Amino acid sequence: MMRKQVVGNWKMNGSAAVIGEVLDQLSVERFSADVSVCVPMPYLSAAVGRLAASPIRVGAQNVSEYGDGAYTGEVSARMLKDVGCSLAIVGHSERRRYFAETDAAVITKLARLLEVGLFGVFCVGETLAERDSGGAEARIESQLAQLHTLMARGAGPERFCVAYEPVWAIGTGRAASNEQISSMHEFIKRCLGPAYAVLYGGSVKASNAADIMALTAVDGVLVGGASLDAREFGAICRAA
Ligand code: 13P
Repeated sequence: MMRKQVVGNWKMNGSAAVIGEVLDQLSVERFSADVSVCVPMPYLSAAVGRLAASPIRVGAQNVSEYGDGAYTGEVSARMLKDVGCSLAIVGHSERRRYFAETDAAVITKLARLLEVGLFGVFCVGETLAERDSGGAEARIESQLAQLHTLMARGAGPERFCVAYEPVWAIGTGRAASNEQISSMHEFIKRCLGPAYAVLYGGSVKASNAADIMALTAVDGVLVGGASLDAREFGAICRAA
C-alpha cells in the first residue's frame, strides 16, 4: 500500500522563531507517513537546514509560471530546487481567489515544477455555491482538465498529486463529511486514473485525521492551521 502523505501548509504565518520551535520538535520524530512542510518563501532555506537530519521534506506554497528572468518579485521553480525544496503547492484556492490565478496559470506552474524535477501538489476545490447548485464535480473536472496534457507528456503519479480542498471547508473548522470526501476522491481518481494520489484538505486536525485517512480513496492530507503547532501536526502525522 502507498504510504500516506501529510503536507503542512503554513500559509503566510510563522516567523524565524516559530520555524525553529516547530521544525526542531518535528525533526526528532519518525513517522510512517511521508511528511512535508510548506513554509513561507523567506524561511525555505532555514527550514531545509533545520530538517537536514530528518526525512521531512520542505516545500513552497507557490511558484512562478515563468522561468528565470525579468519578473520582479517572482520565484522560479529552479530557485526552489536550488535552495533544497522538494515540492510546491500550486493552485491553492487562496491564490485563485486573492491573486486571480486561472486554471491555465496553475497548469503552467505545475509544468514548471515538473521541468526541474520538483513534486507538485495540485489543488482543486469547489465553492459552497458550486456545491449547493450541484456543480461540484463539474468544477473539479474543469480544474483537472488540463492535467491530461501533462500526463500525456509523461507526468506520472510520482511527479504530482491532487489535493481536494473544498473552499467552504478551509479554515472554517467544518471539514467535509467522510461521504463527501470519499465521493469526490473517487471521482478524481476516475478522471485521472487510480494511481494518482489524492489528498484531502480543509479543517483537518488531530481529532479527525485518523478517520479521514482511513478512507480508501484518501492518500493523505493537506493541513493548514493545525500544521503550525508541532504537537497537533505531529499527532496528525502519527494518525496516518
Ligand atoms: P485549514 O487546515 O486551516 O482548514 O486549511 C486547509 C488548507 O487550505 C491547506 O492548504
